[in-house]
Order: sequence, then C-alpha cells, then structure tokens
Amino acid sequence: MASTANAFRLSVSPKPAAASSPDAFLRPETLSFRSPAGGARLLRRSGGGACSVSAGAGAARFRVRASATPVMDKSASEAGSKAPTIVEVDLGSRSYPIYIGSGLLDRPELLQRHVHGKRVLVVTNDTVAPIYLDKVVNALTKGNPNVSVDHVILPDGEKYKDIDTMMKVFDKAIESRLDRRCTFVALGGGVIGDLCGYAAASFLRGVNFIQIPTTVMSQVDSSVGGKTGVNHRLGKNLIGAFYQPQCVLIDTDTLNTLPDRELASGLAEVIKYGLIRDAEFFEWQEKNMHALMARDPSALAYAIKRSCENKAEVVSLDEKESGLRATLNLGHTFGHAIETSFGYGQWLHGEAVAAGIVMAVDMSYRLGWIDESIVTRVDKILKQAKLPTLPPETLTVEKFKSVMAVDKKVADGLLRLILLKGPLGNCVFTGDYDRKALDETLRAFCKS
Ligand code: NAD
Repeated sequence: MASTANAFRLSVSPKPAAASSPDAFLRPETLSFRSPAGGARLLRRSGGGACSVSAGAGAARFRVRASATPVMDKSASEAGSKAPTIVEVDLGSRSYPIYIGSGLLDRPELLQRHVHGKRVLVVTNDTVAPIYLDKVVNALTKGNPNVSVDHVILPDGEKYKDIDTMMKVFDKAIESRLDRRCTFVALGGGVIGDLCGYAAASFLRGVNFIQIPTTVMSQVDSSVGGKTGVNHRLGKNLIGAFYQPQCVLIDTDTLNTLPDRELASGLAEVIKYGLIRDAEFFEWQEKNMHALMARDPSALAYAIKRSCENKAEVVSLDEKESGLRATLNLGHTFGHAIETSFGYGQWLHGEAVAAGIVMAVDMSYRLGWIDESIVTRVDKILKQAKLPTLPPETLTVEKFKSVMAVDKKVADGLLRLILLKGPLGNCVFTGDYDRKALDETLRAFCKS
C-alpha cells in the first residue's frame, strides 16, 4: 500500500461549484436516492425499514431507507445464541434466506435443507480449506449419508479470479460426473463466492448454489444479491452473470481467523451503506468503529445484519441493476481503476473502494452537492477503520481516465457515477455532472 495512504490531502478545501438546481433530480439520466421525504410513496417495509419509489420526468426515481432501529442490545443476544438471525432476500420464486449467527456451521440442518440432489461440490481455496473444509463437509453430511461431497481447492487471491481458474471447477465437476441436480457450495471470501457462483450459473446451464462467506467483505456484501463473475485483464468483474444462491450461511465465528487487514477491507462496504442510504447506521458506525476493529462479536453481528438488510432491500427492488442497485457501487468506479491499474490483489478490494469513496465524496463536494462536514466525517471514519484515503501515489490522471472508460457504468460513452447529494444517507446515480469537477478531483488526487 502507498506509504501516504492515510494522509488526507483534501484539507485544501476546494471551492464548491455552484449548487445545482433541485431539478437536477428530474433529469432523465439521474436517479436520486434519498431518505423518504414529502411526496414519496411508501412502497414496502422490511425489518422496520421503509423504502419508497416515485417517478418524475420520465425517470424512475427510488427513495429508499433501511431499518433505522438501534438494535445493539438485541444483536448482543443474537451473537451469544445459536439461533440464527434471518434476513430474507425477497425475489419472488428466487427468494432466499441469509442466516447470520455464531456457530452456524455446527447446525447441519440449516445447510442440508438447501442442498438439492445427492452430490455436492465445495469450491474453496488453499487458505480457507485447511481451516473450514472439514467442518463444512461434516455439516453437509452429518446424519445425511446419502449425500456425497467432492471439493476443489483453488489458489488463493484476486489474481486467480479468472476464467482459467474457473475451468478447474468445471474440470472437477465433469471428472466427478456431477449432473444437473448437484449443488455447488462456495466456501471463502468474495473471490471464491463470485467465481463459484459464476461456475454454478454456467455448469450445465445452471446448478444449485449455496454461499458460505467467510470474510467481512463477503458477509456484508458479495454473497448477497447474485452478482457473480470473474475479472478480465482489462477490467474487473467484466465477465459474469446474475445468479442467486439457494441460501447464504454466515457463521460469524469464521471471522475469528480473518487477518486484520481483511477485516478492515470489509468495513469499507459497511461504511458505504451508511453513506448512500442509512445515515443512522453511519452514525452508529461512528460510535462503534473501535468495537468493530476490536472484533466485538455483538458489534460485528449487528453490522453484518444491518448491511445484509440494506443490500437485501436494494436487490429486491432492482435485482439486475437498472438504477438503484448501482448505488451500491459508491467509490467502486474509482476503486476498480486502482485495482485494475495496480494489478489485482496489490490493494485489497475494500482498500481500493475506500480511496474511491473519498474521491467520490470529494467530487460531490466540488459539485456543491454535500456539506464539508460529510467530507470530514468520511475521512475520519475511514482512518478509524485503518483504510486508505488516497489512491496509490503512482496512479496518473490519464491512467485513471483510461481504466474508468471501460467501467460497466459507462452508457453511450457517458461515465455515470454514484455521488452523494443532500444530507448524509442520500446519493444519486448520474451522468449529469459538471465534467470539470471530475477533472478537478482526479487532479487533486493523482499526478498528471
Ligand atoms: P478474498 O476472497 O480474496 O478473501 C480475502 C482473503 O482472506 C483471502 O486470502 C482469503 O483466502 C482469506 N480468507 C477468507 N476467509 C478467511 C477466514 N475466515 N480466515 C482466514 N482467512 C480467510 O477477498 P474478499 O475481500 O472477501 O472479497 C473481494 C472480492 O469480492 C473481490 O473480487 C470483489 O470484486 C468481490 N465483490 C463482489 C461483490 C458482489 O456483489 N458479487 C461485492 C463486493 C465485492
């Protein structure tokens, strides 16, 4: 990581561009996502939260807010018991539960009820397998002698999230003569979950699939919502499919073996949920970041649950990312440019996202869309989480621009970005911004 990673260069307060008119929300290419306020139509409630959708000037506009109930005391009891918390991902016939709790890998019935057929292929890597593979095989087979479990152990690392490595999954599945009624189980972090999910989507045109995420990143984000895929050398996650699992099983005890740097990386996505749609969650994080960093089980359980609730709600409303779901990518366009330029795995995904969030927040401020206090709070919380607040020193403006040009959010040659707008917890997904602000942000953070 760059040695300057935690030095915040934004103290040279940029002069905000003139505040845009309120009707910026009404332009066709802008989707705005705000806490419910006057005029919004209440659409549904889940877990005490509310979300609403309103349309204007030909553009679908969503306003969503997640559960705002402070449940720190509740999560403490959840963390201590074996009863899982269940968050539902509501997708009609493809709905599925996310089980969250301590000791869930010792509850075979949770996994077994989601296994279809008699054959299972566990996909994992050479770091996770020695710690958890036996436990998972036991959970799949205990009291269930009819099920046979094969496994494939892949090399560990983002640089192996590619088609070549995915072929090893197909090799094993075909050699083992698995048929359409088999189940693939992803055991590991986001790399394994994304790769195994895409393999499950493709093998025999789609087989059942279960996610057992073992990193904060995968427990709060990547295992939920069915985005699966692999990287191409020219860009991250450019090849993939939307493919939902049968269930997600989050045993929070697996975090006990996770390295500190990986824990922090996952917290970048937790912080993201607060910024884009859940101001109360962000405030909770400001008070509890020390507990999260110290791996307090009740704080982690609460952060995972609340993150899953936010993600589940967004995915239920916009599974295939026609608008709202894109907001989950706050900071990712800048972040992916860092990951792609630097070589996959040099910066962890969450580290790149953290620096990307700072850049998106900087740009939002230059556009006059947010208060300076938000810029300061974002910087502070990322530093508390020991995450970088600057991209690598060697990354140039030109390199950023060239990688961002192949981002999945480019439409008709226009780069759409997720930017904060309004009070904390509100954002827009838009291509309607002053290009000058993007240039200024890139110049403020990178060498020209
Ligand atoms: P990762 O999968 O590389 O895991 C991080 C490291 O931790 C690896 O070395 C892994 O082997 C190790 N590890 C995993 N669990 C462990 C445990 N319990 N104990 C000890 N070590 C453990 O990285 P990640 O941060 O989990 O995921 C990043 C990936 O997720 C990226 O490829 C990113 O693009 C993807 N992602 C996908 C989505 C989505 O919606 N599909 C969302 C966010 C991120």
